[in-house]
Amino acid sequence: MAKKYLIETFGCQMNVHDSERLAGLLEQAGYEPTDDERDADVVVINTCSVREHAEEKLYTRLGELRVLEEETGRRPLVAVAGCVAQQEGAALVRKTNGHVIDVVLGTQRLKMLPMLVQQATGTRRRGDRFRLLRDSAWSVIDVAPWDDMGFPLGVARRGDPVKAYVTIIEGCNDYCAFCVVPYTRGHERMRPKADILAEVRQAAETGRREIQLLGQIVNHYQAPDDPRCDFATLLEAVHEVPGVERIRFASPHPRHTGARLIEAVRDLPKVCKHLHLPVQSGSTRVLQAMRRRHSREDYLDLVARIRAAIPNVALSTDMIVGFPGETREDFDETLSLVEAVQYHSIFSFKYSARPNTLASKRMPDDVSEEEKTARIVALQARQREIQTRLYVQAVGRTVEVLVDAVSRRRDGEMSGRTTGNTVVNFPIPACGSDSESRIAAPDSGAWLGRTVPVTIWRAGPNSLWGEVAGVPAVARAEAGVGLA
Ligand code: SF4
Repeated sequence: MAKKYLIETFGCQMNVHDSERLAGLLEQAGYEPTDDERDADVVVINTCSVREHAEEKLYTRLGELRVLEEETGRRPLVAVAGCVAQQEGAALVRKTNGHVIDVVLGTQRLKMLPMLVQQATGTRRRGDRFRLLRDSAWSVIDVAPWDDMGFPLGVARRGDPVKAYVTIIEGCNDYCAFCVVPYTRGHERMRPKADILAEVRQAAETGRREIQLLGQIVNHYQAPDDPRCDFATLLEAVHEVPGVERIRFASPHPRHTGARLIEAVRDLPKVCKHLHLPVQSGSTRVLQAMRRRHSREDYLDLVARIRAAIPNVALSTDMIVGFPGETREDFDETLSLVEAVQYHSIFSFKYSARPNTLASKRMPDDVSEEEKTARIVALQARQREIQTRLYVQAVGRTVEVLVDAVSRRRDGEMSGRTTGNTVVNFPIPACGSDSESRIAAPDSGAWLGRTVPVTIWRAGPNSLWGEVAGVPAVARAEAGVGLA
Protein backbone atom coordinates (compact mmCIF):
# COMPACT_ATOMS: atom_id res chain seq x y z
CA MET A 1 0.00 0.00 0.00
CA ALA A 2 1.25 3.51 -0.83
CA LYS A 3 2.44 5.61 2.07
CA LYS A 4 0.36 8.69 2.89
CA TYR A 5 1.33 12.30 3.52
CA LEU A 6 -0.35 15.28 5.11
CA ILE A 7 0.87 18.87 4.64
CA GLU A 8 -0.23 21.64 6.98
CA THR A 9 0.47 25.21 5.90
CA PHE A 10 0.74 28.38 7.96
CA GLY A 11 1.32 31.81 6.49
CA CYS A 12 1.20 33.57 3.16
CA GLN A 13 0.42 32.60 -0.45
CA MET A 14 4.12 31.85 -0.99
CA ASN A 15 3.92 29.16 1.65
CA VAL A 16 0.70 27.82 0.16
CA HIS A 17 2.45 27.51 -3.18
CA ASP A 18 5.55 25.94 -1.60
CA SER A 19 3.23 23.36 -0.04
CA GLU A 20 1.80 22.63 -3.50
CA ARG A 21 5.36 21.95 -4.67
CA LEU A 22 6.15 19.76 -1.65
CA ALA A 23 2.96 17.77 -2.27
CA GLY A 24 3.94 17.25 -5.92
CA LEU A 25 7.42 16.05 -4.92
CA LEU A 26 6.02 13.55 -2.42
CA GLU A 27 3.55 12.24 -5.00
CA GLN A 28 6.38 11.80 -7.49
CA ALA A 29 8.07 9.72 -4.80
CA GLY A 30 4.98 7.49 -4.55
CA TYR A 31 3.11 9.02 -1.60
CA GLU A 32 -0.65 9.65 -1.60
CA PRO A 33 -2.43 12.54 0.11
CA THR A 34 -4.57 12.15 3.22
CA ASP A 35 -6.50 14.60 5.38
CA ASP A 36 -6.29 12.39 8.45
CA GLU A 37 -3.24 12.75 10.69
CA ARG A 38 -3.92 9.28 12.15
CA ASP A 39 -3.53 7.86 8.69
CA ALA A 40 -0.42 9.81 7.66
CA ASP A 41 3.05 8.27 7.40
CA VAL A 42 4.60 11.71 6.85
CA VAL A 43 3.35 15.02 8.27
CA VAL A 44 4.94 18.16 6.80
CA ILE A 45 4.37 21.42 8.69
CA ASN A 46 5.14 24.37 6.44
CA THR A 47 5.74 27.22 8.85
CA CYS A 48 5.60 31.00 8.97
CA SER A 49 7.65 33.25 11.23
CA VAL A 50 6.46 36.65 10.06
CA ARG A 51 4.44 37.08 13.29
CA GLU A 52 5.19 35.64 16.69
CA HIS A 53 1.69 34.19 16.79
CA ALA A 54 2.30 32.23 13.58
CA GLU A 55 5.51 30.75 15.00
CA GLU A 56 3.77 29.72 18.22
CA LYS A 57 1.32 27.68 16.13
CA LEU A 58 4.16 25.34 15.17
CA TYR A 59 4.99 24.52 18.77
CA THR A 60 1.31 23.98 19.58
CA ARG A 61 1.00 21.63 16.62
CA LEU A 62 4.11 19.65 17.56
CA GLY A 63 2.64 19.21 21.06
CA GLU A 64 -0.57 17.87 19.53
CA LEU A 65 1.38 15.36 17.44
CA ARG A 66 3.14 14.14 20.56
CA VAL A 67 -0.19 13.63 22.31
CA LEU A 68 -1.40 11.74 19.25
CA GLU A 69 1.61 9.45 19.47
CA GLU A 70 0.92 8.78 23.14
CA GLU A 71 -2.73 8.01 22.40
CA THR A 72 -2.29 5.83 19.36
CA GLY A 73 1.24 4.46 19.76
CA ARG A 74 1.73 5.40 16.13
CA ARG A 75 3.95 8.22 15.12
CA PRO A 76 4.22 9.74 11.65
CA LEU A 77 7.55 11.02 10.44
CA VAL A 78 7.45 14.80 11.03
CA ALA A 79 9.13 17.30 8.71
CA VAL A 80 9.19 21.02 9.50
CA ALA A 81 9.63 23.27 6.46
CA GLY A 82 9.31 26.99 5.78
CA CYS A 83 10.48 30.14 7.50
CA VAL A 84 10.75 28.83 11.09
CA ALA A 85 12.78 25.87 9.84
CA GLN A 86 15.13 28.21 7.96
CA GLN A 87 15.39 30.60 10.89
CA GLU A 88 15.98 28.02 13.63
CA GLY A 89 17.72 25.12 11.87
CA ALA A 90 19.13 22.61 14.39
CA ALA A 91 17.99 24.82 17.26
CA LEU A 92 14.44 23.85 16.39
CA VAL A 93 15.20 20.20 17.14
CA ARG A 94 16.95 21.13 20.39
CA LYS A 95 13.99 23.27 21.47
CA THR A 96 11.78 20.21 21.25
CA ASN A 97 14.43 17.91 22.81
CA GLY A 98 14.47 15.87 19.63
CA HIS A 99 11.20 14.26 20.58
CA VAL A 100 9.09 15.20 17.63
CA ILE A 101 10.96 16.49 14.58
CA ASP A 102 12.64 14.15 12.09
CA VAL A 103 13.41 16.55 9.23
CA VAL A 104 14.12 20.29 9.15
CA LEU A 105 13.87 21.69 5.62
CA GLY A 106 14.90 25.26 4.70
CA THR A 107 12.97 27.57 2.39
CA GLN A 108 15.48 27.12 -0.42
CA ARG A 109 15.78 23.33 -0.14
CA LEU A 110 12.24 22.21 -1.04
CA LYS A 111 13.41 19.77 -3.69
CA MET A 112 15.36 17.81 -1.05
CA LEU A 113 12.21 16.75 0.84
CA PRO A 114 11.76 13.20 -0.58
CA MET A 115 15.44 12.42 -0.09
CA LEU A 116 15.50 13.76 3.48
CA VAL A 117 12.34 11.85 4.34
CA GLN A 118 13.96 8.70 3.01
CA GLN A 119 17.10 9.36 5.08
CA ALA A 120 15.06 10.00 8.22
CA THR A 121 13.04 6.83 7.62
CA GLY A 122 16.28 4.87 7.41
CA THR A 123 17.50 6.46 10.63
CA ARG A 124 14.34 5.41 12.43
CA ARG A 125 14.42 1.91 10.97
CA ARG A 126 17.93 1.41 12.30
CA GLY A 127 16.78 2.45 15.75
CA ASP A 128 18.78 5.67 15.78
CA ARG A 129 15.60 7.36 16.77
CA PHE A 130 16.28 6.40 20.36
CA ARG A 131 19.63 8.13 20.21
CA LEU A 132 17.84 11.12 18.80
CA LEU A 133 15.83 11.37 22.00
CA ARG A 134 19.06 12.20 23.81
CA ASP A 135 20.93 13.97 21.01
CA SER A 136 19.13 16.18 18.55
CA ALA A 137 22.03 15.94 16.10
CA TRP A 138 20.45 12.80 14.63
CA SER A 139 17.59 14.64 12.99
CA VAL A 140 18.02 15.27 9.28
CA ILE A 141 18.53 18.99 8.73
CA ASP A 142 19.03 20.93 5.50
CA VAL A 143 18.72 24.69 5.66
CA ALA A 144 21.50 25.58 3.22
CA PRO A 145 20.84 28.95 1.55
CA TRP A 146 21.17 27.68 -2.00
CA ASP A 147 18.76 28.85 -4.59
CA ASP A 148 15.64 26.76 -5.15
CA MET A 149 14.07 28.96 -7.82
CA GLY A 150 14.22 26.56 -10.74
CA PHE A 151 11.41 24.11 -10.23
CA PRO A 152 10.50 21.44 -12.80
CA LEU A 153 7.36 22.34 -14.71
CA GLY A 154 4.22 20.50 -13.65
CA VAL A 155 5.55 19.14 -10.35
CA ALA A 156 3.36 21.34 -8.12
CA ARG A 157 0.16 19.60 -7.08
CA ARG A 158 -2.11 22.62 -7.34
CA GLY A 159 -4.79 22.57 -4.66
CA ASP A 160 -7.04 25.13 -6.30
CA PRO A 161 -8.94 24.15 -9.48
CA VAL A 162 -9.45 27.77 -10.53
CA LYS A 163 -6.40 29.78 -9.47
CA ALA A 164 -2.69 29.14 -9.89
CA TYR A 165 0.10 30.73 -7.92
CA VAL A 166 3.21 31.44 -9.96
CA THR A 167 6.35 32.64 -8.17
CA ILE A 168 8.31 35.30 -10.05
CA ILE A 169 10.67 36.57 -7.30
CA GLU A 170 12.04 34.93 -4.18
CA GLY A 171 13.56 36.78 -1.23
CA CYS A 172 13.95 40.46 -0.48
CA ASN A 173 16.80 42.97 -0.09
CA ASP A 174 14.85 45.73 1.62
CA TYR A 175 15.42 44.80 5.28
CA CYS A 176 12.47 46.73 6.72
CA ALA A 177 13.24 47.02 10.43
CA PHE A 178 10.42 44.70 11.56
CA CYS A 179 10.59 42.04 8.84
CA VAL A 180 12.11 38.58 9.07
CA VAL A 181 11.72 37.75 5.36
CA PRO A 182 15.23 38.72 4.17
CA TYR A 183 16.62 36.38 6.86
CA THR A 184 14.32 33.46 6.14
CA ARG A 185 13.81 33.69 2.36
CA GLY A 186 17.20 35.11 1.48
CA HIS A 187 18.29 37.79 -0.94
CA GLU A 188 16.13 38.75 -3.90
CA ARG A 189 16.27 36.39 -6.90
CA MET A 190 14.34 36.89 -10.14
CA ARG A 191 12.98 33.94 -12.06
CA PRO A 192 13.52 33.89 -15.84
CA LYS A 193 10.59 35.21 -17.84
CA ALA A 194 10.65 32.09 -20.06
CA ASP A 195 10.13 29.83 -17.00
CA ILE A 196 7.33 32.02 -15.67
CA LEU A 197 5.46 32.02 -18.99
CA ALA A 198 5.90 28.25 -19.39
CA GLU A 199 4.33 27.76 -15.96
CA VAL A 200 1.49 30.18 -16.73
CA ARG A 201 0.74 28.34 -19.98
CA GLN A 202 0.79 25.00 -18.21
CA ALA A 203 -1.54 26.31 -15.49
CA ALA A 204 -3.97 27.69 -18.10
CA GLU A 205 -3.89 24.44 -20.09
CA THR A 206 -4.87 22.55 -16.94
CA GLY A 207 -7.91 24.76 -16.38
CA ARG A 208 -6.65 27.54 -14.10
CA ARG A 209 -8.43 30.73 -15.06
CA GLU A 210 -6.75 33.10 -12.62
CA ILE A 211 -2.98 33.54 -12.33
CA GLN A 212 -1.56 35.05 -9.16
CA LEU A 213 2.01 36.24 -9.59
CA LEU A 214 3.95 36.09 -6.33
CA GLY A 215 7.02 37.86 -5.02
CA GLN A 216 8.05 39.62 -1.83
CA ILE A 217 8.26 42.82 -3.86
CA VAL A 218 6.51 41.55 -6.95
CA ASN A 219 6.70 44.83 -8.87
CA HIS A 220 10.49 44.97 -8.54
CA TYR A 221 10.64 42.25 -11.19
CA GLN A 222 13.29 42.51 -13.86
CA ALA A 223 13.67 39.47 -16.11
CA PRO A 224 17.20 37.99 -15.94
CA ASP A 225 16.71 36.57 -19.45
CA ASP A 226 15.29 39.74 -21.06
CA PRO A 227 16.71 43.16 -20.09
CA ARG A 228 13.66 44.92 -21.57
CA CYS A 229 11.15 43.04 -19.44
CA ASP A 230 10.11 44.75 -16.22
CA PHE A 231 7.00 43.88 -14.20
CA ALA A 232 4.58 45.83 -16.42
CA THR A 233 6.00 44.05 -19.49
CA LEU A 234 5.64 40.70 -17.75
CA LEU A 235 1.96 41.49 -17.06
CA GLU A 236 1.50 42.17 -20.78
CA ALA A 237 3.10 38.82 -21.64
CA VAL A 238 0.96 36.88 -19.15
CA HIS A 239 -2.08 38.72 -20.50
CA GLU A 240 -1.43 37.16 -23.92
CA VAL A 241 -1.54 33.57 -22.67
CA PRO A 242 -4.67 31.83 -24.01
CA GLY A 243 -7.04 30.58 -21.31
CA VAL A 244 -5.98 33.12 -18.67
CA GLU A 245 -8.98 35.23 -17.67
CA ARG A 246 -7.69 37.07 -14.63
CA ILE A 247 -4.30 38.17 -13.34
CA ARG A 248 -3.53 39.23 -9.78
CA PHE A 249 -0.22 39.88 -8.06
CA ALA A 250 1.08 40.13 -4.50
CA SER A 251 2.60 42.15 -3.05
CA PRO A 252 3.70 45.31 -4.82
CA HIS A 253 5.78 47.85 -2.86
CA PRO A 254 4.49 51.43 -2.97
CA ARG A 255 7.88 52.83 -3.99
CA HIS A 256 8.04 50.61 -7.11
CA THR A 257 4.47 51.42 -8.18
CA GLY A 258 5.13 53.83 -11.03
CA ALA A 259 3.17 55.18 -13.98
CA ARG A 260 3.89 52.16 -16.22
CA LEU A 261 2.44 49.72 -13.73
CA ILE A 262 -0.61 51.89 -13.04
CA GLU A 263 -1.23 52.12 -16.81
CA ALA A 264 -0.84 48.35 -17.20
CA VAL A 265 -3.43 47.70 -14.47
CA ARG A 266 -5.73 50.26 -16.09
CA ASP A 267 -5.31 49.10 -19.70
CA LEU A 268 -5.02 45.29 -19.52
CA PRO A 269 -8.56 43.94 -19.16
CA LYS A 270 -7.47 40.66 -17.53
CA VAL A 271 -5.49 42.43 -14.79
CA CYS A 272 -7.75 42.78 -11.77
CA LYS A 273 -8.58 46.29 -10.66
CA HIS A 274 -7.22 45.68 -7.19
CA LEU A 275 -3.93 46.73 -5.66
CA HIS A 276 -2.65 45.46 -2.34
CA LEU A 277 -0.28 48.23 -1.29
CA PRO A 278 1.31 47.57 2.12
CA VAL A 279 1.68 50.86 4.01
CA GLN A 280 2.37 49.52 7.57
CA SER A 281 1.78 52.89 9.31
CA GLY A 282 0.16 56.27 8.66
CA SER A 283 2.93 58.16 10.44
CA THR A 284 5.99 59.30 8.48
CA ARG A 285 8.01 59.26 11.70
CA VAL A 286 7.16 55.58 12.28
CA LEU A 287 7.68 54.72 8.60
CA GLN A 288 11.19 56.16 8.85
CA ALA A 289 11.88 54.08 11.96
CA MET A 290 10.57 51.05 10.06
CA ARG A 291 12.99 51.78 7.15
CA ARG A 292 10.07 51.64 4.73
CA ARG A 293 11.50 54.17 2.24
CA HIS A 294 8.14 55.87 1.69
CA SER A 295 6.43 58.60 3.68
CA ARG A 296 2.75 59.12 4.46
CA GLU A 297 2.75 61.93 1.89
CA ASP A 298 4.37 59.74 -0.82
CA TYR A 299 1.79 57.06 -0.17
CA LEU A 300 -1.23 59.37 -0.30
CA ASP A 301 0.14 60.94 -3.46
CA LEU A 302 0.45 57.46 -5.01
CA VAL A 303 -3.12 56.60 -3.99
CA ALA A 304 -4.35 59.84 -5.62
CA ARG A 305 -2.51 58.97 -8.87
CA ILE A 306 -3.90 55.44 -8.89
CA ARG A 307 -7.46 56.61 -8.27
CA ALA A 308 -7.18 59.29 -10.96
CA ALA A 309 -6.13 56.61 -13.48
CA ILE A 310 -8.40 53.78 -12.28
CA PRO A 311 -11.43 55.28 -10.52
CA ASN A 312 -13.02 51.90 -9.70
CA VAL A 313 -9.84 50.37 -8.23
CA ALA A 314 -10.07 48.54 -4.89
CA LEU A 315 -7.17 49.05 -2.50
CA SER A 316 -6.05 46.91 0.41
CA THR A 317 -3.07 47.07 2.75
CA ASP A 318 -1.06 45.69 5.67
CA MET A 319 -0.78 47.61 8.96
CA ILE A 320 1.33 47.13 12.07
CA VAL A 321 0.24 48.77 15.31
CA GLY A 322 2.45 49.28 18.36
CA PHE A 323 5.77 49.45 16.50
CA PRO A 324 8.55 50.55 18.92
CA GLY A 325 8.18 54.25 19.69
CA GLU A 326 4.69 54.54 18.14
CA THR A 327 2.85 57.27 20.11
CA ARG A 328 -0.88 57.81 20.34
CA GLU A 329 -0.44 60.69 17.86
CA ASP A 330 1.34 58.37 15.42
CA PHE A 331 -1.49 55.89 15.72
CA ASP A 332 -4.07 58.64 15.12
CA GLU A 333 -2.24 59.30 11.84
CA THR A 334 -2.74 55.64 10.94
CA LEU A 335 -6.47 56.00 11.61
CA SER A 336 -6.65 59.16 9.53
CA LEU A 337 -4.78 57.49 6.66
CA VAL A 338 -7.23 54.59 6.69
CA GLU A 339 -10.08 57.11 6.51
CA ALA A 340 -8.39 59.02 3.69
CA VAL A 341 -7.66 55.95 1.52
CA GLN A 342 -10.94 54.04 2.12
CA TYR A 343 -9.45 50.55 1.79
CA HIS A 344 -11.61 47.63 0.74
CA SER A 345 -9.75 45.49 3.27
CA ILE A 346 -6.75 45.61 5.57
CA PHE A 347 -4.60 43.01 7.30
CA SER A 348 -3.62 44.42 10.67
CA PHE A 349 -1.18 43.04 13.22
CA LYS A 350 0.21 43.89 16.62
CA TYR A 351 3.97 44.38 16.45
CA SER A 352 6.07 41.53 17.77
CA ALA A 353 9.88 41.47 17.66
CA ARG A 354 11.14 38.92 15.14
CA PRO A 355 14.53 37.23 15.33
CA ASN A 356 17.53 38.95 13.70
CA THR A 357 15.62 42.05 12.63
CA LEU A 358 16.91 45.56 13.19
CA ALA A 359 13.95 46.42 15.39
CA SER A 360 14.50 43.37 17.60
CA LYS A 361 18.14 44.30 18.12
CA ARG A 362 17.99 48.06 18.50
CA MET A 363 14.45 49.16 19.32
CA PRO A 364 12.83 48.43 22.68
CA ASP A 365 9.36 46.92 22.34
CA ASP A 366 7.96 49.80 24.38
CA VAL A 367 4.25 49.89 23.53
CA SER A 368 2.44 47.82 26.14
CA GLU A 369 0.47 44.75 25.10
CA GLU A 370 -2.66 46.37 26.49
CA GLU A 371 -2.11 49.48 24.37
CA LYS A 372 -1.37 47.40 21.25
CA THR A 373 -4.63 45.55 21.76
CA ALA A 374 -6.57 48.80 22.23
CA ARG A 375 -5.06 50.20 19.03
CA ILE A 376 -5.74 47.17 16.88
CA VAL A 377 -9.33 46.99 18.13
CA ALA A 378 -9.81 50.68 17.27
CA LEU A 379 -8.21 50.21 13.83
CA GLN A 380 -10.31 47.19 12.97
CA ALA A 381 -13.51 48.91 14.14
CA ARG A 382 -12.75 51.92 11.92
CA GLN A 383 -11.99 49.65 8.97
CA ARG A 384 -15.17 47.69 9.54
CA GLU A 385 -17.22 50.89 9.29
CA ILE A 386 -15.43 51.84 6.04
CA GLN A 387 -15.89 48.39 4.50
CA THR A 388 -19.56 48.30 5.42
CA ARG A 389 -20.05 51.68 3.71
CA LEU A 390 -18.13 50.58 0.61
CA TYR A 391 -19.80 47.19 0.31
CA VAL A 392 -23.31 48.60 0.67
CA GLN A 393 -22.68 50.66 -2.47
CA ALA A 394 -22.64 47.39 -4.43
CA VAL A 395 -26.23 46.47 -3.51
CA GLY A 396 -28.45 46.53 -6.59
CA ARG A 397 -25.48 46.39 -8.97
CA THR A 398 -24.48 43.46 -11.16
CA VAL A 399 -20.83 42.50 -10.82
CA GLU A 400 -18.61 40.00 -12.66
CA VAL A 401 -17.62 37.13 -10.38
CA LEU A 402 -15.07 34.41 -11.06
CA VAL A 403 -16.57 31.40 -9.29
CA ASP A 404 -13.87 29.71 -7.20
CA ALA A 405 -15.42 27.75 -4.34
CA VAL A 406 -18.32 25.65 -3.16
CA SER A 407 -19.49 26.73 0.28
CA ARG A 408 -18.56 24.32 3.05
CA ARG A 409 -20.95 25.95 5.45
CA ARG A 410 -24.09 26.21 3.34
CA ASP A 411 -25.40 23.53 1.04
CA GLY A 412 -26.15 24.72 -2.46
CA GLU A 413 -24.10 27.91 -2.17
CA MET A 414 -21.00 28.95 -4.08
CA SER A 415 -18.69 31.91 -3.93
CA GLY A 416 -16.28 33.82 -6.08
CA ARG A 417 -14.51 37.14 -6.23
CA THR A 418 -15.01 40.39 -8.05
CA THR A 419 -12.15 42.02 -9.91
CA GLY A 420 -11.70 44.10 -6.74
CA ASN A 421 -11.20 40.87 -4.74
CA THR A 422 -14.48 41.11 -2.81
CA VAL A 423 -16.03 37.75 -1.92
CA VAL A 424 -19.51 37.23 -3.36
CA ASN A 425 -21.76 34.35 -2.21
CA PHE A 426 -24.70 33.11 -4.22
CA PRO A 427 -26.95 30.07 -4.55
CA ILE A 428 -25.91 27.63 -7.27
CA PRO A 429 -28.04 28.35 -10.29
CA ALA A 430 -29.70 25.69 -12.37
CA CYS A 431 -27.77 25.02 -15.56
CA GLY A 432 -30.33 26.29 -18.06
CA SER A 433 -33.54 28.13 -18.46
CA ASP A 434 -36.01 25.43 -19.37
CA SER A 435 -38.42 24.13 -16.85
CA GLU A 436 -36.54 20.85 -16.51
CA SER A 437 -33.29 22.52 -15.46
CA ARG A 438 -35.12 24.65 -12.93
CA ILE A 439 -35.65 21.63 -10.84
CA ALA A 440 -32.41 19.87 -11.68
CA ALA A 441 -30.02 19.31 -8.82
CA PRO A 442 -27.53 22.15 -8.66
CA ASP A 443 -24.22 21.25 -10.29
CA SER A 444 -21.43 23.16 -8.58
CA GLY A 445 -18.76 21.63 -10.82
CA ALA A 446 -20.32 23.23 -13.87
CA TRP A 447 -19.83 26.68 -12.34
CA LEU A 448 -16.35 26.50 -10.91
CA GLY A 449 -13.97 28.58 -13.00
CA ARG A 450 -16.70 30.45 -14.85
CA THR A 451 -17.05 34.21 -14.77
CA VAL A 452 -20.70 35.08 -14.16
CA PRO A 453 -22.71 38.26 -13.61
CA VAL A 454 -24.13 38.36 -10.08
CA THR A 455 -26.74 40.87 -8.96
CA ILE A 456 -26.00 41.91 -5.37
CA TRP A 457 -28.85 42.12 -2.93
CA ARG A 458 -27.15 42.14 0.45
CA ALA A 459 -23.84 43.40 1.84
CA GLY A 460 -21.99 42.39 4.97
CA PRO A 461 -18.75 43.93 6.29
CA ASN A 462 -16.61 41.21 4.67
CA SER A 463 -18.58 39.88 1.72
CA LEU A 464 -21.58 40.28 -0.56
CA TRP A 465 -24.59 38.07 -1.35
CA GLY A 466 -26.47 37.91 -4.63
CA GLU A 467 -27.93 35.79 -7.41
CA VAL A 468 -26.57 34.97 -10.84
CA ALA A 469 -28.22 37.40 -13.24
CA GLY A 470 -30.21 36.11 -16.20
CA VAL A 471 -30.22 32.45 -15.11
CA PRO A 472 -32.99 30.87 -13.11
CA ALA A 473 -31.87 30.89 -9.51
CA VAL A 474 -31.51 27.52 -8.07
CA ALA A 475 -34.31 26.18 -6.95
CA ARG A 476 -33.91 27.30 -3.48
CA ALA A 477 -37.06 25.46 -2.47
CA GLU A 478 -36.13 22.22 -4.23
CA ALA A 479 -32.51 22.34 -3.11
CA GLY A 480 -33.30 23.64 0.34
CA VAL A 481 -30.97 26.59 -0.18
CA GLY A 482 -31.43 29.70 1.90
CA LEU A 483 -29.56 32.95 2.10
CA ALA A 484 -28.74 34.60 5.40
S1 SF4 B 1 9.79 44.92 1.55
FE1 SF4 B 1 10.11 45.01 3.76
S2 SF4 B 1 8.22 44.08 4.59
FE2 SF4 B 1 8.31 43.45 2.43
S3 SF4 B 1 9.38 41.46 2.43
FE3 SF4 B 1 10.94 43.05 2.11
S4 SF4 B 1 11.75 43.51 4.15
FE4 SF4 B 1 9.78 42.43 4.43
